[in-house]
Amino acid sequence: MIRDSYWLDMPYTPSVPLSGELDVDVVVIGGGVTGVTGALFLAEGGARVAVLERREVASGATGRNGGFMLAGTHEYYVEAVEELTDLYGADGRRMAGEAWRIALENHDLMAGLMAKYEIQCDYYRHGSYVMAMKRPDRGSHADPLERIVRSYNLLREDGFDVEYLDENGLYDIKHSPQLAGALWNKFDGELHPVKYVRGLASAASGLGVRFFENTPVTSIERRGAGGIGRGADGNGRGDSGGRGDSGGRGVSGGRGVSAVSRTGSGVSSPGGLVVHTPGGRIRTQHVLLGMNAYTPQLDARYERRIIPHRGQVFTTEPVSERLFNGVFYANDGWEFWRQLHDGPGEGGRLLFGGGRNHHLRAERGFHFLRRRGRRIRTYRGYKERPTRAVQRSNDRAFNSTFPHLAALARSHRWGGVMGFSYDSSPFVGETETPGVHIVAGFTGRGNAYATVAARMVSDRLLGRPSAVEDQFETVKKVFDPLRGGIDAENRRR
Ligand SMILES: Cc1cc2nc3c(=O)[nH]c(=O)nc-3n(C[C@H](O)[C@H](O)[C@H](O)COP(=O)(O)OP(=O)(O)OC[C@H]3O[C@@H](n4cnc5c(N)ncnc54)[C@H](O)[C@@H]3O)c2cc1C
Repeated sequence: MIRDSYWLDMPYTPSVPLSGELDVDVVVIGGGVTGVTGALFLAEGGARVAVLERREVASGATGRNGGFMLAGTHEYYVEAVEELTDLYGADGRRMAGEAWRIALENHDLMAGLMAKYEIQCDYYRHGSYVMAMKRPDRGSHADPLERIVRSYNLLREDGFDVEYLDENGLYDIKHSPQLAGALWNKFDGELHPVKYVRGLASAASGLGVRFFENTPVTSIERRGAGGIGRGADGNGRGDSGGRGDSGGRGVSGGRGVSAVSRTGSGVSSPGGLVVHTPGGRIRTQHVLLGMNAYTPQLDARYERRIIPHRGQVFTTEPVSERLFNGVFYANDGWEFWRQLHDGPGEGGRLLFGGGRNHHLRAERGFHFLRRRGRRIRTYRGYKERPTRAVQRSNDRAFNSTFPHLAALARSHRWGGVMGFSYDSSPFVGETETPGVHIVAGFTGRGNAYATVAARMVSDRLLGRPSAVEDQFETVKKVFDPLRGGIDAENRRR
């Protein structure tokens, strides 16, 4: 049994780390789905781009997720409507609908990139089943079926082509005695996230993007205006945990300083930035922070906005029979599963994840303690290693969902760190520092929003109209990169 991601369990040769100096139009920090997609879009538009990745491309959450491509935010649609109505009043319902539509657009963009660059990544569009279980779990709604039915009704009213399947209609998933009903969205899909993102990276390299792996960014300097970063002792601590409140991280340089001009590559220019790494530095016009959960490690302004949460998963040894198609999301998303397409024959491994609801404190990346009247932040996290407690919870849930499969040996167990925002929407756009842009805070839904978000930001940097912004009226408000911080401990699970 391997204690690391099944997706990453394949041969790979990383690019060399940055050494010396370089000039580009845009530096992308982070080689996950966000950063690599953004780099590709920018290169398609003629920009000179460098991607700096602390470890290897797709080694963050991108290489550790379930590979689900789901429409909508992580909660039931009825909850998305309720939460957005709480936050934005009468506009909330329309915003929930747009969030769903944006995710569908995101899916189409991803499928388009796969086709354009001939990326083989085990992509299937067999739909998703948002399940009501007969055994509601800790933290899930007491009557999940009622939430599913209400979500179905609202979605139909809002014009979405979804189906409701009752217990008898769940033909595809007859293998579990635990299922009470499901919302079926036939437009959802699944993929091998590492094959996909490394395929994108190779397409981007072909367009001239320079990749530097094993290259942690330690700070960003805005010439004449200070910078972003936590000091040269660096944040390349990845999985190691440790305290994070080292000094030297002041952010300065207000907005509105820059007159937008154009460089030769077509990228608008707000002025000079320098990105520092242990082996070298890059001068650039723009920086794109594609670091999701890790953003606060480099930019303290996102500490109260993006909260790291660990998610854990296991895969079994392959089953030769195809047990089911599609992806399954149960008990308010606290449990999820699918069967992979890695053979033998029509079959594949089962992937099962969740269990965080039983161990919320341990699975949150950092905590606040009170000591002698002072509030102190402690880091337990950014640890990706799987824990016995959560994996046991997952085993129990799997065994009760699939009693006849309980004896299947587990092949891989792993964890990954997600970046949660308080309202489930990502932060997308220019930060308080001119030229520094962010695309992060996907709240467990990077495969639903990262591509659209990367498209929006790259269009802005390339100075061209954004089809996403034209098409979706509320997107700027919902994705606002400057919206408030949170008392996330109390607000997010
Ligand atoms: C167990 C699990 C299951 C999930 N399932 C799903 C799912 O089925 N569907 C879905 O849509 N989403 C899912 N997610 C969430 C999804 O994985 C993320 O939303 C998405 O991968 C975020 O991509 P990203 O590129 O923004 O961030 P990441 O993939 O985390 O990439 C950020 C990168 O930045 C790098 N980095 C950080 N700091 C620095 C630095 N200082 N210098 C240089 N590089 C740096 C990191 O090494 C990392 O590679 C899941 C997540 C987990 C953990």
